[in-house]
Amino acid sequence: MKTILVTGGAGFIGSNFIRVALAQTRARVVVLDALTYAGSRHSLAAVADDPRFAFVHGDITERATVDAVLREHQPDWIVNFAAESHVDRSIDGPRVFVRTNVMGVLELLDAARHFVAAADAARREGFRFLQVSTDEVYGSLGDEGRFVETTPYAPNSPYAASKAGADHLASAFHATYGLPVLITNCSNNYGPYQFPEKLIPLMIQSALAGKDLPIYGDGQNVRDWLYVTDHCEGILRVLESGRPGEKYNLGGDSERTNLQVLDAICAALEAIVPAASNDALTARGIGAYAELRTFVRDRPGHDRRYAIDASKIAGELGWRPRHGFEDGIRATVQWYLENRTWCAAVQAGKYQGERLGLSTEAKP
Ligand code: NAD
Repeated sequence: MKTILVTGGAGFIGSNFIRVALAQTRARVVVLDALTYAGSRHSLAAVADDPRFAFVHGDITERATVDAVLREHQPDWIVNFAAESHVDRSIDGPRVFVRTNVMGVLELLDAARHFVAAADAARREGFRFLQVSTDEVYGSLGDEGRFVETTPYAPNSPYAASKAGADHLASAFHATYGLPVLITNCSNNYGPYQFPEKLIPLMIQSALAGKDLPIYGDGQNVRDWLYVTDHCEGILRVLESGRPGEKYNLGGDSERTNLQVLDAICAALEAIVPAASNDALTARGIGAYAELRTFVRDRPGHDRRYAIDASKIAGELGWRPRHGFEDGIRATVQWYLENRTWCAAVQAGKYQGERLGLSTEAKP
């Protein structure tokens, strides 16, 4: 039975990955998570009593903590989801992004390297370190083309730059120390358990509450949307069969402009809770969710388009996304409607839907 150490497992993708891993494999799963504003044990409630699940509250930047977890739990695989993940917050305060996304990854890699060096031959042979990365490291595309694994890195936001730094360190640990590193670069995820600061859950919540739905700039920025459990299955596939030292791009084959995303959310809401039956809208004299859309000042340095070419992982490992965008959005809207207690619990005292990421003036 394998043991998977999942760092950042109390966040959006990490908590989904844990449910997928426990359901689809016989592995034990150990979470190491600092429980920042973005992480919550509420997201792990469904697996909390599973005998194959363990939780450690700790920070990946603290080497003694990481070493202790490796010593105690002896993982076969490490999957690193731990990160500061919101581009807008990286504009307001980039330092913590470098601390966790670069320095934290360095500590994890270095701890893993020493752990593997001291392990027996069987563990060394099967050990894998998977760094979960993003398509944002590749920068922005024009109207044509898609990112492939050899596209040069050209990050534009402090978030993307910190993730690029982590990827370079991970590759360097493979080249220099022979650590069996894998890197996955993934497009925008959506689905259950996403902290409601991100576009899709924020818009669902705001629409239900009859609040304006702000669209950055002209709404024509394009992202390639991937349903979160499809991503998690792809990560499992890379852990099981990926070649150490390789990168794999994962995408949803679902390019949509932000305006199209908003329209899909509004359509799903109209089908499930029609605006005419929602007091928050009728009180404002609004008859359709789409009327809540408002254009606001753009995000500074807003990348225009991301699109993933996922043919390498499809060809080598047979992974393809299973959810189409409209089905995934309907499932996501339904989940947020049924899990308002989770939304309230994870946001309490932390975030109430305010606009982030406009402070481009110099800070000390
Ligand atoms: P998230 O913000 O929802 O969760 C991050 C988790 O990491 C939280 O549980 C948080 O408590 C934990 N964490 C933060 N700093 C930590 C530290 N120093 N030590 C230990 N734990 C810490 O993020 P997410 O959306 O689930 O993203 C997970 C990973 O996937 C990130 O590395 C992100 O860059 C990457 N990614 C995300 C997307 C996306 O669309 N969400 C797309 C591609 C890649």
